[in-house]
Amino acid sequence: MLDTTTRNIKYLPGVGEQRAALLDKELGIRSLYDLLYYFPYKYIDRSRVFKVAELGGHMQHVQLLGEIRSFEEMGEGASRRLVAHFTDGTAFVDLVWFRGLKFVKNRLKLNTQYVVFGKPSMFNGRVNIAHPDVDDAALLKLDNMGLQPYYNTTERMKRSGLNSNAMAKLVQNLFTLLNREIEETLSSDITRKHGLMSLDDALRIIHFPKNGKELQLAQYRLKFEELFYIQLNILHYAKDRQLRYVGHRFAKVGDMFNRFYHENLPFELTGAQKRVVREIRADVNSNRQMNRLIQGDVGSGKTLVALLSMLLAKDNGYQACMLVPTEILAEQHFATLRRMLGSLPVRVELLTGSTKAKERVPLFEDLASGEIDILVGTHAVLEDNVQFYNLGLVVIDEQHRFGVVQRAKMWAKNNIPPHVLVMTATPIPRTLAMTLYGDLDVSVIDELPPGRKPITTTHVFRSRADGMYSFIKKQLEEGRQAYVVYPLIKENEKLDLKNLEDGYNQLCNIFCDYKLGKLHGKMKPKEKDEEMRRFAQGETQILVSTTVIEVGVDVPNASVMVIENAERFGLSQLHQLRGRVGRGAAQSFCLLVTDYKLSEDTRKRMEIMTTSNDGFEIAEADLKLRGPGDMEGTQQSGIAFDLKIANLARDEQILKFVREVAREVVDADPECNHPQYRVVWERLRMIKRMNGWNWGAIS
Ligand code: ADP
Ligand code: MG
Repeated sequence: MLDTTTRNIKYLPGVGEQRAALLDKELGIRSLYDLLYYFPYKYIDRSRVFKVAELGGHMQHVQLLGEIRSFEEMGEGASRRLVAHFTDGTAFVDLVWFRGLKFVKNRLKLNTQYVVFGKPSMFNGRVNIAHPDVDDAALLKLDNMGLQPYYNTTERMKRSGLNSNAMAKLVQNLFTLLNREIEETLSSDITRKHGLMSLDDALRIIHFPKNGKELQLAQYRLKFEELFYIQLNILHYAKDRQLRYVGHRFAKVGDMFNRFYHENLPFELTGAQKRVVREIRADVNSNRQMNRLIQGDVGSGKTLVALLSMLLAKDNGYQACMLVPTEILAEQHFATLRRMLGSLPVRVELLTGSTKAKERVPLFEDLASGEIDILVGTHAVLEDNVQFYNLGLVVIDEQHRFGVVQRAKMWAKNNIPPHVLVMTATPIPRTLAMTLYGDLDVSVIDELPPGRKPITTTHVFRSRADGMYSFIKKQLEEGRQAYVVYPLIKENEKLDLKNLEDGYNQLCNIFCDYKLGKLHGKMKPKEKDEEMRRFAQGETQILVSTTVIEVGVDVPNASVMVIENAERFGLSQLHQLRGRVGRGAAQSFCLLVTDYKLSEDTRKRMEIMTTSNDGFEIAEADLKLRGPGDMEGTQQSGIAFDLKIANLARDEQILKFVREVAREVVDADPECNHPQYRVVWERLRMIKRMNGWNWGAIS
């Protein structure tokens, strides 16, 4: 039988070597299967015929039925054109060609019924249609034209004749070649129970639908399937782990936890913090391995929850490790933990990329012998040579920069995988959470410590910066501090650093009565530390910086966050940065500086930022504006996000539904051996192979 996944596209009639190379290069289409799953991005209804009298300048594509009364050649040079005066008896419209004039004129006859298809526009007060499709009405059966598919193609493809129409032809050829029903990929009880059309129907219809209604059913079936397999994979993974491993049991609440809680804690936990600590305690005392996600907006006090959990580990004879995405953050957490623990006999150490080889030797020894209780570190901790004596808990703090793959590395650091707490500062949209963290239980810290005032956010045009500077001065006079953040991206590093330098110098002039600090990723860790320390202790009043301060940094006295070139930041990043202020009792401000001219997209982002302080709302908006592939963390997640048809921003309902369907399958068939689900597990294996999802339980 013809295996579409391995059959090279070049063997499809109409393709050949050259086009195959082009299809691969431009769209990544290599096999027949790739083409089969290359879906149209839109459809145009060709079942309706418009009257010429109905036409206006702002319509989508229309279809007309009528005759050409006369031709006229007009204009010179580039504006030379052929005009055909076309009518259906209700009015006249000009059909216009700028290229291939002779060819068109020779082909088309006067007073013959034609079907014309194109997009009307206005020119000199007259409606015309440029370069329309013109077909003999006798040859075109309108009743079964249905919706015409449109495929995305690139400029290079179009130049080689591979336009949308040509793609449609190739797909037609593909169906002719297949000459059989495409095999079903969902089990029959699922398709029956949920009223799904067969895969064969769905694929034919998605390319060549007759009407909107059947198109919708086909889209639903294909979205269902796409999301179902992502959920099946992740839920089966979770189930398998649960069956296979018992968890380390932290049965007691001991000395360290109690002493810290009653003697060291300078404030009362919020209700949300207490609830989440209870949830964690239930998990680690349950004989199951904990895999829990804690979502809490910036400033909601996740670090403390992490520390309490790590003390539970210590009380039960286990080590704990806290993984963070940047060195600055690691250093800061390290300092915070040491400070909070005070004189308690809990040993905390730090490991980052810049920890010297000389320091590593004793560090690794003490880690392996169990003398270190808590290790704070960056990606450096993931490396195989970092061995623990008895790792019981891993806390992954801040952001979704660590995916399933990184988590799996940490599990491998003990015979029985340690408990895992993932903390995300930027709340992520529910759909993305279900996908990225679909195997985790979720806790939410939905309450900020008392006394916080919502941050006031204002959008400021560059040309009005003077007013902003006087405002900042007032804040500094009141004893507060300010951050000024500049964008920095790798591709543009030199220029960005220069902007930061220029900005810094300018600010030094404007704020000559104050002390300014400067911080960016190119500085040595020691220098960065020193700058951070100076700002944290109030020796400098303004910190001019790149986004290195984006995550976690905590200076409660800072009340102003200025973000320069705010248009260059994504929403989640803006929200993260804004979260650096508003951590003390004072009213805090975030000022987003942009040029006057803004893209529609930027305008929307500024509007959302100035009207919402709610991280979840912002994350949802971000997903809608950018799409999941661009969301931070999805790249490293180990999950393919180039979904072919489903859309995580729009298909939340379907996603939630299929998650339950997938859960039923996993619960009914945890060992993957029921004949009834054989087709499902086989399909999952194939998808994993094709997408390179090399994690998870089924292989
Ligand atoms: P997150 O990591 O969730 O963004 P942090 O853990 O950095 O937040 O906490 C933000 C600030 O709030 C810190 O200065 C912390 O000491 C303080 N904090 C945490 N919990 C409480 C609480 N229950 N009451 C008062 N302040 C708190
Ligand atoms: Mg934090």
